[in-house]
Amino acid sequence: MTPQLKKAYDPETFRQQGHELVDLLANHLQATLSQDKEVIPWMEPETALAHWEQDYATQQNTPPNTFFQALIDQSIYLHHPQYLGHQISPPVPIAALSGLMADLLNNGMGVYEMGIGATAIERLVVKEVCRAFGYEAAAGGFLTSGGTLANLTALLCARSHQASESVWEKGQQKQLAILVSEEAHYCVDRAVRIMGWGAEGIIKIGANDRFQMDTTLLEPALAQAKKEGKEVIAVVGSACSTSTGSYDDLEAIADFCSQHQIWFHVDGAHGGAAIFSNKYQSLLKGIHRADSIVMDFHKMLMTPAIATGLFFRKEDQSYQTFTQRAQYLWDKAAEKEWHNLAKRTFECTKYMMSVKIYSIFRTHGTSLFDDFVTTLYQLGQTFAQLIEQRKMVELAVEPQCNIVCFRLKIPNGSNQQMNQLNKSIRQQMVQQKQFYIVQTQLKDRLFLRTTIMNPFTNEKILTQLLDEVELLGKNNLLQLVD
Ligand SMILES: *Cc1c(COP(=O)(O)O)cnc(C)c1O
Repeated sequence: MTPQLKKAYDPETFRQQGHELVDLLANHLQATLSQDKEVIPWMEPETALAHWEQDYATQQNTPPNTFFQALIDQSIYLHHPQYLGHQISPPVPIAALSGLMADLLNNGMGVYEMGIGATAIERLVVKEVCRAFGYEAAAGGFLTSGGTLANLTALLCARSHQASESVWEKGQQKQLAILVSEEAHYCVDRAVRIMGWGAEGIIKIGANDRFQMDTTLLEPALAQAKKEGKEVIAVVGSACSTSTGSYDDLEAIADFCSQHQIWFHVDGAHGGAAIFSNKYQSLLKGIHRADSIVMDFHKMLMTPAIATGLFFRKEDQSYQTFTQRAQYLWDKAAEKEWHNLAKRTFECTKYMMSVKIYSIFRTHGTSLFDDFVTTLYQLGQTFAQLIEQRKMVELAVEPQCNIVCFRLKIPNGSNQQMNQLNKSIRQQMVQQKQFYIVQTQLKDRLFLRTTIMNPFTNEKILTQLLDEVELLGKNNLLQLVD
């Protein structure tokens, strides 16, 4: 044992630094919730890099608080009510504390022995969510590292069930394909290409004017695919889509899938959480008929990243995704053991994400999720009303959730001019550090995109945001005239 190693693991140092860190974070939480800070400490990438090169060159072996403080100072604040950007939760503090615990315990979770409590907790959490979705007792699933990986895992499972030949053993012979809305998240497209089906494997179904899958196009698309000799494995429904937060008609997709015996997968990474909202769960009507569902806890369920659930209507099916043997990990490779998670997950070493989720279940109950989702979805509607009151601002579409896309118009302006204007507005907004919003391209039109992720955001803040958009717009237009 070297003195350096002994010092690195010293419990008393951990205790003292931990107390200091929690104090720092509690102060920070206070300041961000009450808007005492800017939402994003924007700086050029080279400036940020230079800071850390200087830090590394001069601060080695010093106490970590200046590091902690500097990192806080260079982070975007999800707890800030003027944060309206990408879809990631302001974590509820109890879940962050559980994350600290998970990091120190660091149980690997792939096999039961490497995470006894966390594995049992994962079972409980998964079963509770399955019940919430309206699944029956045969349902189950697991947690995994992100919606992207979960969608790929679900589609691999679909393939192992649906394909007429064993791709896993023999490689792909036939052209396999899925049907999915053109508005789906890009990771579905990516999953298909990773599986080796190529661009031919993604059959895009057009969307209606609310950016939902036009389900009347499913029949002709399937007929065309068959004619081309493709084997359609699955339909992926978006609940909701990422750009505009549009919910596909899950009931209609379920009907189509059961009629043709095709796997029905729901990408509910963002909007699956609506199942916990008494007011909004009807958006998910028909979801209990899906063969598999993905839901991110780190988006709409207040959990620190990364924590995603993959749920199966018939859990048995999930054991056939990866049938390869890994004998050194377990003896009975053929058995369906819920408690040896790596049989069904991509991860071998798997993060203890269940404990963060469970800490919320246990401390607050799932009614907290109802409060969270309902508050944010309602704020989405409030924001849409505020937009509709303004002559020079237009909505991309009436929002179904907390994702709201809008743009500033130019009287008699061309679409290209409006795209340029809104793009500049967003860029200037980030640099001014007061509001954080993003942008999205819908067909040839560029929109400002907001996701209201913070229940402390309110009507006043949303009004200020619109004032700011109009002001920046006016200044930009004046410059154009000059
Ligand atoms: C965010 C999102 C994903 C990707 O999930 P990650 O957890 O970021 O990997 C997939 N689908 C939809 C609909 C999403 O909103």
